[in-house]
Amino acid sequence: MNDEGMRVPHHYALLGVAPDASDEEIRRVWKAEAQRWHPDVSPQGGPRFIALKEAIDAIGEAGARKRYDAQLQAGVEAAVQRMVSGAEGGPSGRAVSQGVRARLGGWIDRVAGVREARPVSGRNRRLRVAVGFAEAALGTERRVELMSEKACQTCEGQGFPVVGRPWVCGRCGGIGEVLARPFLRAEWQACVECAGLGWVPEPACEPCAGRGVVTVPVTWVVPIPAGLASGTTLRVAGAGEPGVGGGAAGDLLVEVEIEADPHLRRDDARGTKPSLEVRCEWRVPFWKAMAGGTMTVPTVRGPVAIALPAGLVDGEVLRLPGYGVRAGTSGAVGDQLVTVRIEWPVGLDEAALAGLRAWGEGLAPERFPRSMGQAEGLAPRDGSRTAGVRRVGPDRNDGNSDSGRGSSEGDL
Ligand SMILES: [Zn+2]
Ligand SMILES: [Zn+2]
Repeated sequence: MNDEGMRVPHHYALLGVAPDASDEEIRRVWKAEAQRWHPDVSPQGGPRFIALKEAIDAIGEAGARKRYDAQLQAGVEAAVQRMVSGAEGGPSGRAVSQGVRARLGGWIDRVAGVREARPVSGRNRRLRVAVGFAEAALGTERRVELMSEKACQTCEGQGFPVVGRPWVCGRCGGIGEVLARPFLRAEWQACVECAGLGWVPEPACEPCAGRGVVTVPVTWVVPIPAGLASGTTLRVAGAGEPGVGGGAAGDLLVEVEIEADPHLRRDDARGTKPSLEVRCEWRVPFWKAMAGGTMTVPTVRGPVAIALPAGLVDGEVLRLPGYGVRAGTSGAVGDQLVTVRIEWPVGLDEAALAGLRAWGEGLAPERFPRSMGQAEGLAPRDGSRTAGVRRVGPDRNDGNSDSGRGSSEGDL
C-alpha cells in the first residue's frame, strides 16, 4: 500500500515482462498465461486469471497502456518528491536534486524489477576435508551439504502465489531505491520494502516469504581423484554462493587434507612431483627373516599376506607391485615398498640362550662371510681378562639399529 492508501497493481511484474516490452510480447505472454490459469483448466487459477485479465485490460492496448504508464510515472514522481523534500533542508539538497533528475530520466527502466543489467557473480565458498591416506591413494568422493538458494517451487520463483499478485512498492514508487540518510549524505540505496524490485507481492508466497527463492540444503558430490597431494584445492563449479541479477553462482573450493597413516607414507613433499610409491617399514622376527615365511603387511588396499623370501637382511626392500598410489589422470598404479626391519628376540631364558649358542656354534664359519676372518691375527693381550662393556643403545646411523625407537638406556 502506498502513502495515498491506493494500491497500484504491477501488471508488468505479474506478466513477468519488462516495462518496455513490446505490445506483441505482452499479448503473447498474456495469451499463454491466460490459457494456463483459465478456470476451466486450472481449478485454483481463478484469482490469477482475474489479475491477468485486469493486466491485459490495462496494458494490452496502446492507449490504455499509456494511461497506466502515466499512472506509474506519477507514482514515481510522487515518491521521489517525498524523498527529496526530506532531503532539501540538508546541505546536499542541490546534489540530491541533480541525482534525482538523472534517475527520473530513465525511470521506466527501473520499474518492475527491470534493473540495469548488472549481474553479480556469487562468491566462492571454501571448505577443508580430511581424507584417509588409503582413500586418497585410490581416489574417493565426499558429499557435502551446503545451504543454497533455489527457485521456490510453490510460486515458481515469482514471490507471489496464485492468490496473490505484485503491487507497485508504495515506499519507492517502483524505482527500487530510496534516498537514505538525506541530511547527512544523500545516497541511493536499495529499497528495503521491496528488496529493490519496485514491487511487493501480496499476499506473499509463504514458503519463500515472497523472496521467490528458498534456502535448502543441497548435497554436492566432490570427487577426490586418486593420487592427490595433500593440500590440493579442488574446485566444484557452481557450488558457491548464488549470483545476483543473473550472475553465475560462485564455486566451491575444497582443500583436501590427507591424513597420515600409522604405517604407510608417500613421498609427496610440496614442490615435488608426488611419487606413486607407498613406503612402509615392517618388523620381521629374525628367524623369519632367516628362514622365510608368510607375513601380513598393511597396504592401501587393506592388509595383505606376503611370502617372505629366506635370508633377508635388515634394511632390505621388498616390492609389492600394484599396491601403490593410483595416478588420477593416467590410471597408472605404483608399487608398495616394504623396508624390512629385523627384530631380535628379547627376554629369552637361559635355556633358550644356551640352545641358541649351541646352534650358532655348530654353524660353519662360512655361514657368516662378513664376520669370518675379521678377528684374524687379533690375539687379546691378556687372554684371561674380559673387558667390561656398558650398553649405550642403538647407533642411529647404523641400518642394523632399531631406528632409535627401542631401548636407549645410556643414550644421552
Ligand atoms: Zn514462493
Ligand atoms: Zn520499494
